[in-house]
Amino acid sequence: LLQTIDLNKRFGGLRVTNNVNFELDEGEVHCLIGPNGAGKSTLFRLFLGEHSPSSGRILYAGEDITHLKPFQRIRKGISVKFQVPGIFAALSVRQNLTIALQHHLEGASLDEEIARLLEFLRLTASADMQAASLSHGQKQWLEIGMAISLKPRLLLLDEPTAGMSPDETYETGEMVRALNADGVTVLAVEHDMAFVRQIAQRVTVLHFGQIFAQGTVAEITANDAVAEIYFGHVDHD
Ligand code: ATP
Ligand code: MG
Repeated sequence: LLQTIDLNKRFGGLRVTNNVNFELDEGEVHCLIGPNGAGKSTLFRLFLGEHSPSSGRILYAGEDITHLKPFQRIRKGISVKFQVPGIFAALSVRQNLTIALQHHLEGASLDEEIARLLEFLRLTASADMQAASLSHGQKQWLEIGMAISLKPRLLLLDEPTAGMSPDETYETGEMVRALNADGVTVLAVEHDMAFVRQIAQRVTVLHFGQIFAQGTVAEITANDAVAEIYFGHVDHD
């Protein structure tokens, strides 16, 4: 569904994305892992079109989208939940979802869709709370709600479980699995390996802007070279 060809991004002399040839299959849940500064968020910004690459191409559903603007990519079904917050803190949960949906639905169908989303996001009881007063995990869920409100074909999640409790992390995983069962292709940047194990069919390890390894969760967690890039050494005891 998404493919990069020799994708490069440089900031001054720094090569943040280095000749990346990445392929995401339609229908899969794929996790992107790698140490801090590996270039994961930069790759997401390239996918959405917030950065333009220094060289290389990005294909989506077979079409070259390298030079399309973010709103054009969103219209084609690409949606992103970034690491930085994107909700209206002063508004209620319901008002936030209304903003996300109101250009596409109105009247009873808008109310129905909001009710359905609230239920899905485990936020029904908090619908009329101000977004600022939600727990950290609930805020992340509202962000996911904003990202899925337009029923994307491809959902990119940058650290969706950051700062969540284990229970919230598990619930988030169940949300991702339900979305995937509904046909949404998901690419998630994630540090929590329990979460990766819960959701991912395939994992890509990014290191210094390059694809370092790729495989199933079992293959990646058994790969000593991957452990080494995180910890510098591997203990066998
Ligand atoms: P983390 O796990 O900490 O979120 P990441 O893998 O998402 O890391 P990026 O945010 O993509 O990493 O950053 C990769 C490198 O690119 C870092 O060295 C960062 O300092 C640099 N970088 C990112 N954005 C810019 C920018 N706009 N200008 C200059 N350098 C940047
Ligand atoms: Mg990042």
